Amino acid sequence: MIEKRFTRRKFLHRSAVASLAARINLKASTSDSAATAPTKAAEWFDRPMRWAQLTLVENDPGQYDLRFWLDYFKRVHAEAACLSAGGCVAYYPTKIPLHYRSAWLGNSDPFGDLLAGCRKQSMVVIARTDPHATHADTLNAHPDWIAVDAEGRKRRHWADPDFYVTCALGPYNFEFMTQVHREIMTLYHPDGIFSNRWAGSGMCYCENCQRNFKAASGMELPRSRDPHDPQRRAYIGWRQQRLFELWKLWDGEIRKINPLARFIPNAGGGALSDLDMKTVGEMADTLVADRQARHGLMPPWANGKNGKEFRAGLGPKPIIGLFSVGLEEPERWKDSVQSEAEIRIWVADGIANGLRPWFTKFSGTLYDRRWLDVVQSIFEWHTRSERYLRNVKSLARVAMVYSQQTATFYGGEKAQQKVEDHTLGFYHALVEARVPFEMVHDRLLDSRHLDNFKLLILPNIAALSDQQCAQLRQFVEHGGSLIATFETSLYDEWGERRKDFGLADIFGARFKGPVEGPMQNSYLRVERDKVSGQYHPILAGLESAGRIINGVYRVPVDGLDNASNAPLTLIPSYPDLPMEEVFPRAPKTDIAEVFLRESGRSRIVYFPWDIDRVFWEVMCVDHAQLLRNSVEWAANEEKPVTVTGPGVLDVTVWRQHGSITVHLVNLTNPMMMKGPYRELIPVGEQRVRVRLPEGTRAQKVQLLVGGQQPHTQETSGVVEITVPSIAAHEVVAIDL
Ligand SMILES: [Zn+2]
Repeated sequence: MIEKRFTRRKFLHRSAVASLAARINLKASTSDSAATAPTKAAEWFDRPMRWAQLTLVENDPGQYDLRFWLDYFKRVHAEAACLSAGGCVAYYPTKIPLHYRSAWLGNSDPFGDLLAGCRKQSMVVIARTDPHATHADTLNAHPDWIAVDAEGRKRRHWADPDFYVTCALGPYNFEFMTQVHREIMTLYHPDGIFSNRWAGSGMCYCENCQRNFKAASGMELPRSRDPHDPQRRAYIGWRQQRLFELWKLWDGEIRKINPLARFIPNAGGGALSDLDMKTVGEMADTLVADRQARHGLMPPWANGKNGKEFRAGLGPKPIIGLFSVGLEEPERWKDSVQSEAEIRIWVADGIANGLRPWFTKFSGTLYDRRWLDVVQSIFEWHTRSERYLRNVKSLARVAMVYSQQTATFYGGEKAQQKVEDHTLGFYHALVEARVPFEMVHDRLLDSRHLDNFKLLILPNIAALSDQQCAQLRQFVEHGGSLIATFETSLYDEWGERRKDFGLADIFGARFKGPVEGPMQNSYLRVERDKVSGQYHPILAGLESAGRIINGVYRVPVDGLDNASNAPLTLIPSYPDLPMEEVFPRAPKTDIAEVFLRESGRSRIVYFPWDIDRVFWEVMCVDHAQLLRNSVEWAANEEKPVTVTGPGVLDVTVWRQHGSITVHLVNLTNPMMMKGPYRELIPVGEQRVRVRLPEGTRAQKVQLLVGGQQPHTQETSGVVEITVPSIAAHEVVAIDL
């Protein structure tokens, strides 16, 4: 029964793998042919460090100031530009029927003019297309190109009633947009094509989607959003396969015209993103992390997090951080300008996390010019410091795993709360603890991807296959440490509950269940070791507390070892009202709420409760302390960089050819969790202790933002530097 249910899925998975393999072969055969093989040096992807994007609006032709923009690109030392070409609106004299020309175009060619100007400035140029919407004449000529809603109606555009929404998975993209991309490549030979909103705008029930999905799966399109519904599950796989095919098609057609050019989809992200980042990372030679600004309640490290997530898939390939100069809220004030402090810290956190900055501006008409000098000053600094920003690798020893399959199949419609909030909580705890760390994709847990790390963090990575569990076991056997929380490994890769944790043997705990919660007014007793009488190092700083608050959900488990000597034990929930009744009914139990193991250099911490998610919600300092202590104890080695001083800093550490850099982004500000920043509030003196790679010595130490030669001291492979103050960003650069 189970086998039968899984057959179609296996087929879908296999064909995705097969198409990927075909692509890899294709790649190999092109580079084998000496006649057409581009030399490595001719590849442009790694060249540009700074990007500019001007997204034209329909009335720009004839109105926008070409010379101003080219001059601005030069002033900011932009080495690449993304320029609007076609899709919804064409900004060049297209000959393709139904490819709508801007009504202001006349005989002009703004895309061609901008491209020629940028080329004169030796810039890389990629053309932007946006295929997500089209005019009513397309509806009449090709009704099957238009997206259809669940009730069978052709979808009018939600924001502009002159437009219809297109179907991403059918002939509009596969045929019409392929023609558009070929025409742009033939006429202008750009270095690539970047497509925005190319992957559809929600579920489409058009005749092509119905027919194609049925041919692939034998099923009707799903009506349910439940990932355990077999139709939905098959659809999730089919849609991805279709989009990867489209990417491959466009990339192939583009390369036929310019072998060095690439198709660059606006795609990618963390656990909640919908295209498998392992495949994305294999297919892309470079990619754009489009996270324009923060909105709502969001810390500024969210930009750096994107850098880490993209790098988990792409490795050392160049990743570009697309930021906007405006506000990014649901009301979409696209012509707005953000505060200087907000732009500075958002961009700094991206740069600190390995992103190459790309500013985007919508519309050639400038209604508010305040951003121009801000971006110029950031980019000028970036140009001066470029040598120290060409990172070879991160020196972080800690990595946090993220899992799209956990979000999709275990989290489902509640993925934000059940999956991402655990990640955000642990992420914030690591930032507060000033631990430099990377992120790792759960489909890349092989030793090649994990060898640089000492400690892996699994923040409720609930859905893991047997193979993934085996990879983690191997990591531990080779001396690696793990911290896991809550339901990690309790589900398989499809979100089906196991009888026990896949990693029960590693955790030293067996699932008893069922999950308990939400718990009101529950606590954890802080216990001394029964043998030594000492407090365990993970309780450092909490010794006098007696007890601390518990989480909200817990997994009842049975310990495999001596769990009766646990450093944290459960004080079960008791009434929180009437006030007369607020006293613990069981002030002491021997129910362990943390499991610790040591074997050789490997150390394991397992919290059978939602410490990370609750930390995100409540931000309790005791939980921050407990997470920080756990990371320190489990890592079981000195950090590559230790930063001591007041405030909240995002700390990253990188190796370049010939140098090491430590980035310190000052997040300390009353607007840290909800932007925009009003002003930069400098944080006081920081002592930075850097472990030098074996066999190297510090030749020169600089502060790339402050500009001064800092006070430094070097003893046996360690350099200590005093950074007097940080406004938004400081980079300690050590020449080796
Ligand atoms: Zn469709």
